This record gives sequence, C-alpha cells and structure tokens, in this order.
Amino acid sequence: MICVDLHMHTKFSGDAQLSPKIIVNELHAHPFIKGVAITDHNTLQGYFQVRRLAEPHEDLIVIPGIELATPDGEIILLGIEEMPKYPLTVDGVVDFASEKAALIVMPHPFREMGGLGDSAEKIQAHAIEVINPSATPEENKMAKELAEKRNLPGVAGSDAHVLGQMWAAYTEVEAESNVEGILKAIKRGRVKPVASTKI
Ligand SMILES: [Zn+2]
Repeated sequence: MICVDLHMHTKFSGDAQLSPKIIVNELHAHPFIKGVAITDHNTLQGYFQVRRLAEPHEDLIVIPGIELATPDGEIILLGIEEMPKYPLTVDGVVDFASEKAALIVMPHPFREMGGLGDSAEKIQAHAIEVINPSATPEENKMAKELAEKRNLPGVAGSDAHVLGQMWAAYTEVEAESNVEGILKAIKRGRVKPVASTKI
C-alpha cells in the first residue's frame, strides 16, 4: 500500500506558491505519504521540475497530472505528459484522455469554484475526488454520494496551493510503488480516500 496526495499545485499554477523543491523536500520528509500527483492548472511545467528533483529519491513517486479548466468545470487528468489542444471543453478533454489512455478524475465536483456540478453525473470519468479540503463538508458528502451512485472509485488530495495545505487529504492505494501500478489500482477502485486533519 502506498499513500499518495493526488491533487497538488506548484507555483506554475499561477495561483499557487509551492516551489517544486519544497514539494520534493516535504514529500521526502513526510513519515508515510510517498507519492504525489502534480496537477497544475493547464500546465505540466511544475510536474517536470518536481519529477526531475525527485529523481535522486528512489522511494518517491511523482504522478504526472493536469487540472484543466473547461467552461463546465475542472477536470483532472492523471498519467499524461502533454496538454490537450485549446479551447478546452469537456468533450475535447474526455476524447483526449481516452486517446492517450489518461485517467479522468473529477475534482471537487460540487464545489462552487471549479466544480463540474450536473455535468459530473454523466462524464466518462475513472474516479471522483470525494475529499477536497477546500470544498465544504456538504460538497464532499455530495461527491461521495455521486461516487457511490455511479459506482466510481473515490479518491482524495489536498489541492494544496500553499505550504500549510499540503497532505491534508490523501489516498491509500493498494499498489506497488510505481506510477503505472498506482494508476491501474485507482481504475480498479483499490483506493481509500483519507482526510489527515478534520475537514
Ligand atoms: Zn486544484
């Protein structure tokens, strides 16, 4: 089992302050979370830097990701190292993801800022983020209920933009410590979302 924070922003997101170096240092120092998905807004620049800086640490896993802003809400893709073409739309992103075999996660679906709302009922996603510290308990509860209703795995991530927010939520994944194994396990639902602190 490996503990992974599946939603993390670097300063390349524009609205975040975390440097790739801080993320790697904090991941290295963390007692049990040893994986992170870098999910910047519409860019992979931060991911590439985090991956490079994490290379000397054999125990750390860095999952490539992006959080894409569409007019209907945000969608996270995992296991992808390139950007889809603009303009970003839900259909375009879903097609791109299936073409590239990327994992589709619906982050904070019922959060007012960036949530997919009603669209989350029908998007062909692989997982739903059911714990997001920046969503309200009610919004997280609705996300959990949607995951149950749609029979989709529920995952969690801190959605950290600044230092104090890191690792506030994470996902326990029943997998070997490598990116491919983790992504496969998420698809199969071998996951448990966890809130580290009271959210
Ligand atoms: Zn985010």
